[in-house]
Amino acid sequence: MLPTSRLCRFLAVLMTAILTLTIIGNGIVRSIATATPSAAPILLITDSSASNRFGPYLGEILRAEGFAAFDQQDIAAVTGAALQPYPVVLLAEMSLTSAQAALFTAYVSGGGHLIAMRPDAQLAGIFGLTPLGSSQSDGYLKIDGAQPIGQGLVTSRLQIHGPIDRYTLVGATRIAQLYSDATTSTPYPAVALASYGNGQAVAFAYDLAKNIVYMRQGNPANADVDIDGDSVFRTIDLFQTSGGGAPWVDRNKIPIPQADEQMRLLGHIIEDFSVAATPLPRLWYFPDNAMTMLILTGDAHGNPVSYYQNELDSIDAHGGKITLYLSIAADPPDSNVQAWRADGHEFGIHPYADQPNDYPPYNITSLAQGYDVYSGADGNGGWFATQYSSPKSRTVRNHQVAWKGWTDAADYAVTHGIALDTNFYHWGSWLQKPDGTWPHGYITGSGQPMKFVRADGTILPLYQQLTELVDEQLLDAVTDGAGFEHLNGTQSVAVSRQLIDASLAGDYAALLTQNHVDYYGAPDVQDWAEGTLDYATSKGVPIWNADRWLDFTETRHDAHFSGLGWNPQSGELNFSIQSGTATPHTLTLMVPYELTAGQIQGVTVDGVSKALTSRTIKGRQYAFFTVAPGVHQVVAAYPGAAPTNTPTNTPTNTPTNTPTNTSTNTPTSTPTNTPTDGPTSTATNTPTDGPTSTPTNTPTNTPTGRPTDTPTDRPTSTPVHTPDGLRQVLYLPIVKR
Ligand SMILES: [Zn+2]
Repeated sequence: MLPTSRLCRFLAVLMTAILTLTIIGNGIVRSIATATPSAAPILLITDSSASNRFGPYLGEILRAEGFAAFDQQDIAAVTGAALQPYPVVLLAEMSLTSAQAALFTAYVSGGGHLIAMRPDAQLAGIFGLTPLGSSQSDGYLKIDGAQPIGQGLVTSRLQIHGPIDRYTLVGATRIAQLYSDATTSTPYPAVALASYGNGQAVAFAYDLAKNIVYMRQGNPANADVDIDGDSVFRTIDLFQTSGGGAPWVDRNKIPIPQADEQMRLLGHIIEDFSVAATPLPRLWYFPDNAMTMLILTGDAHGNPVSYYQNELDSIDAHGGKITLYLSIAADPPDSNVQAWRADGHEFGIHPYADQPNDYPPYNITSLAQGYDVYSGADGNGGWFATQYSSPKSRTVRNHQVAWKGWTDAADYAVTHGIALDTNFYHWGSWLQKPDGTWPHGYITGSGQPMKFVRADGTILPLYQQLTELVDEQLLDAVTDGAGFEHLNGTQSVAVSRQLIDASLAGDYAALLTQNHVDYYGAPDVQDWAEGTLDYATSKGVPIWNADRWLDFTETRHDAHFSGLGWNPQSGELNFSIQSGTATPHTLTLMVPYELTAGQIQGVTVDGVSKALTSRTIKGRQYAFFTVAPGVHQVVAAYPGAAPTNTPTNTPTNTPTNTPTNTSTNTPTSTPTNTPTDGPTSTATNTPTDGPTSTPTNTPTNTPTGRPTDTPTDRPTSTPVHTPDGLRQVLYLPIVKR
């Protein structure tokens, strides 16, 4: 038996659902009898038997874009009645039976909104397309910024990995044009929009999910291949091409978060497709109304305690906290680590893939073994647990950013209790462009934390967060074979400032640093770190350690909206938000600033009025507000519908076909071949002050007597000082400041 309170709540939810369904859609009257009690506005349909295994990853894309209310069903279970309640249906790449194709045709015809990845040819008519029966492998797309859906998005060409189908437009509007390479346009659409019956439909000629995964995780064909021949298989080998051919990531596009931008295109489509039925609340990427995050991490290799103390004092003095990844060594001892943790810093493991040691338990010959040695088979033991009384960080970076397989290394991390990986990393001579300049930004196309996915489609409980700002890439003072760009401190700070500025201006990234303990004390290196922190602070960018970022990332990812109800008569949007409470920070929510009936009038959370901030994100205006983690009831108030049109609301189930096409963008003929896009792109990120400078202060590199630090008790080390760049660490003198 249900306790009364639960019964009441159940009835209330049911009533809300019925009312919602009755009111939904400005005239689309849905049959109450067939409606499921879900109030989610989006249905994601996947196919567990599809040869493309990445369909379910579309759910990760929805979450990343803050659409925290959607249902997911396998195509085998989908019926016409199941589609009916959803204003928006997102269809993963799959083959359909003729009966299934008929379901989707009827759904769109009856007023539904369908978005499909490489749709089955039987659906081509819905999308206003004629399939040519041919495809191309890889390419580029160019979003049409003149279309309402494309407005505000980056309009320079963005990469596509994977097969792309060719269509001609027969009534569809091109939202994005397909390019065969970075400069050659094709007459085909990459994304197209059409009206069909009373509904609308968008087709992606490629699979967005596969493309995002391939951009983020690199080329699967490179798994375990040491492409650059430096004897270490690293994450960055996944992005290079044998023989120095054009890298997997187009270096000209590194300044653009290409993957994130394509996810934002999907976001615009979903908003436009749902707005007639209900405005959608979304979760913003960052906490506390922040527009960009700076996340600090650093690797350490058995350095003296004084090195740590100098780095942490400096970071403290400049308003930051850091997560440090430790190699096997006697230092720092537990007493220091606990004191530093009390101050807000965190400490984790820095597993090696190859670390010869005379002491057999610490002799490491593979990355899997490295994780075991550092943290025990289950992640709770090993060297770290022997030396420290606190649990290790749930975030990690491997020594030399060593990797295994395409995602095997991600599996090792999961097995060892890690939930956020920072191994995808902006480093290497391969990044230099033929003209000698160095791009900065996003080798994975993304500044967002998203989960890894195996080739078989299994989504792993491990977030990938790119490391964009790397000391041993930028700084000439890092002399041991890395420091590729040969920049001084001031020039390196300019790179940080430029990435922060571009992020605030629309890239919207979490920017993660590598601040090696080994190098921090060198003059230029510390100047760079402190200059970066100061600039972030001056721009209101929070500076967190990686663990705090992980807590927020998990909380946001798992948060969801429910009980979504929209009443156009009263202008009230209701929903509840549920989230965990691992983060002490607020979630930032966004709702449309303006609807047809007028501007937002206010928002209450649990009955208390909230401050609203108007922000324009990717060309669209939203009202931002914050909500503490937990369970809350939210009401956003807009002007009600004009009292004149009374008849709209009598829910007699008959008139299924009242025209619902609110979206204006349906000009049937599109301008053929819009100009082969000039340099309109927003990407500006190549710093002008290139690596020309002759290093002014060549560090006085007498490796000051660091041997004080050689581990006293025997087994613990002989730290092999190969930093994450290359060969050897030369300890640089600490400059007292
Ligand atoms: Zn290392």
